[in-house]
Amino acid sequence: MIIKPKVRGFICTNAHPQGCKANVAEQIAYVKAHVNAEANQAGPKNVLVIGCSTGYGLASRITAAFGSGAKTLGVCYEQAPSEKTGSAGYYNTSAFHDAAAAAGLYAYTINGDAFSTAIKDQAIAKIKADLGKIDLVVYSLASPRRTDPVTGQVYSSVLKPIGSAHTSKNLNTDKLTINELTLAPATEEEIANTVKVMGGEDWELWIEALQAADLLAEGAKTVAYTYLGDKLTWPIYGQATIGKAKEDLDRASKALNEKLKVVNGSANVAVLKALVTQASSAIPLMPLYLSILFKIMKAEGTDEHCIEQIERLFSECLYTDTPRIDAANRYRVDEKELEPHVQSQVEAIWEAVTEENIAELADYKAYSSDFLKLFGFGIEGIDYDADINPSDVTLF
Ligand code: NAD
Repeated sequence: MIIKPKVRGFICTNAHPQGCKANVAEQIAYVKAHVNAEANQAGPKNVLVIGCSTGYGLASRITAAFGSGAKTLGVCYEQAPSEKTGSAGYYNTSAFHDAAAAAGLYAYTINGDAFSTAIKDQAIAKIKADLGKIDLVVYSLASPRRTDPVTGQVYSSVLKPIGSAHTSKNLNTDKLTINELTLAPATEEEIANTVKVMGGEDWELWIEALQAADLLAEGAKTVAYTYLGDKLTWPIYGQATIGKAKEDLDRASKALNEKLKVVNGSANVAVLKALVTQASSAIPLMPLYLSILFKIMKAEGTDEHCIEQIERLFSECLYTDTPRIDAANRYRVDEKELEPHVQSQVEAIWEAVTEENIAELADYKAYSSDFLKLFGFGIEGIDYDADINPSDVTLF
């Protein structure tokens, strides 16, 4: 099969196994080059990553494994290759397994619905059998829906403003046109459903299940990821339905800190920067916001990808005596994006940008190449004309 990208709107429906492998190798090389012996010693050793196959979760797994030699158990929901290509997360995980095996590192991945009790039970059985107690649980799920494990009811999340409609510029990434987009406000039910999917309830269920099975080590840490952003993104993120769900992570983190006292453990939300992942490319306004942000942060030399963010989260927040933490007990690695001079430049360009000047004022090329790269496309050294077998990878 010759694999070329099949992009529909904000989704690419296929992936390139060799390109995904190259992405994983690049992240591993970054971690190996940046983590010193001291950090290696201090870092986690037995890690559970929920949402381990792409984006921030994959970067967390790579940082734990290749930064501090951790054994990692991952949970994800990915498509294995068949007559079609596998999903990018499948190929990433396959490549991670190969690299971990080559480095003598334990890695096991459970592919199934992390919201379900069955997958939690499977993870617990595997941890008991292979790992002993867990010292770090990373919660990095991004999902549009969740089936309640008790009632079986399916909840869907929405990306909508709260209170009143929001009209804003929006970049159509297929046609490269800029139009006005009006998003109607969410109903109370839509807000509650989004909290049910992306809030803290499932994070709490995971930690409670691990604690009930006595699988949390003394001093165990758990972290869940959030985005706060600034004025431009607040109407669609921070102060919108997804922001409400993320506020619920703060509630969950407080509740978990109480529960974790018996093992001297801790739970924190970590605030990360906006970047291109499968989850963020689905958020209206984000492609334009990110194209402008990239232009500014690249010019300053401060732009970061998932792996740089997570390596800093580990070294500057999770495994240091002087963590960067805010008044709400959240770890912060989004500080470069939120620098006032960066945000004021983004706002000025947002006002000025049009279809005619977008190439000059923003860096859509960087956005687009980061997007294609998520699926293993556009990577130097990969022969995209080669006929390859999409199933010729390590299955897990
Ligand atoms: P992503 O889409 O790259 O990754 C999502 C992960 O969740 C994948 O591993 C996927 O397999 C897994 N997953 C989804 N549904 C699942 C299910 N039912 N069962 C098991 N696994 C499932 O997303 P991401 O952008 O890396 O987001 C991870 C977290 O980081 C989210 O909480 C997100 O809000 C947060 N975050 C993202 C950004 C950003 O700009 N992308 C910024 C700050 C915080």
